[in-house]
Amino acid sequence: MPLPAHRARVIALANQKGGVGKTTTTINLATALAAVGKRVLIIDNDPQGNASTGLGIPQSNREFGIYDLLFADLTVEEVAVATSVPGLWVVTANVDLSGAEVELVNVDRREFRLKDSLERSSGGFDYILIDCPPALGLLTLNALAAADAVLVPLQCEFYALEGLSHLIRTIERVKRAFNPSLDINGVVLTMFDRRNNLSDMVAADVRGFFGEKVYETVIPRNVRVSEAPSHGKPVLLYDHKSAGAQAYIHLAGEMLKRERKRQLAYG
Ligand code: ADP
Ligand code: MG
Repeated sequence: MPLPAHRARVIALANQKGGVGKTTTTINLATALAAVGKRVLIIDNDPQGNASTGLGIPQSNREFGIYDLLFADLTVEEVAVATSVPGLWVVTANVDLSGAEVELVNVDRREFRLKDSLERSSGGFDYILIDCPPALGLLTLNALAAADAVLVPLQCEFYALEGLSHLIRTIERVKRAFNPSLDINGVVLTMFDRRNNLSDMVAADVRGFFGEKVYETVIPRNVRVSEAPSHGKPVLLYDHKSAGAQAYIHLAGEMLKRERKRQLAYG
């Protein structure tokens, strides 16, 4: 009997709110996982292409990208480009992705285009992190249908929990309709400001609501994190000693610990 093909663990980073740290968490969690020897792929699934830009991928290197996974039946092996981080690759948000949301409406298996591509090949990666756009449209549905689990970045602000019930309902709907084994990997609190009591209150609220799903690691608000993308680098390369970089290293460690527990429980 042939050995089963190595299958990547696919994690979608989703929250329909913009500016909550999806892209920042995708880039830096992926970098931290690559730093401990995992083979990691980021799929930039946002027409804004912030993950591609934040990783310093020039426009000239974005000829192929997620559009070709969705519409041209290509595989990640054929379209991924290397980043400056050893072991980290990216499928860029290329050309017509802004039109993709509309174009998807009329194609066959419109919710499964990404899943179908990853099933043709997941490129030998250990982890595939999908950076979603700030919407719950067909691009995000493709990510959720293709994913094993969702990671929800949540900004420590007053309205953090607002709109989350919509996301949870969407995840439940995707589970029923497209992807029964979809799991919530966790919730990660971002842009935590320890000088602000509100951050503590929001964190307590979120932990009360989601319990153990919430990562113990909290990502602090840190200026080095916000500077790094303009240099086309993950904060772990830009300033690895910064509080932000250290927090993402911790987050990756915590995620790997959860992964090992899950593997022991489910094989
Ligand atoms: P999203 O992808 O959810 O829209 P981003 O990751 O792009 O959110 O983050 C929104 C903005 O906040 C960006 O300008 C980013 O640089 C900044 N940012 C994200 N995380 C932090 C942090 N921990 N500290 C400071 N700035 C941050
Ligand atoms: Mg983003």
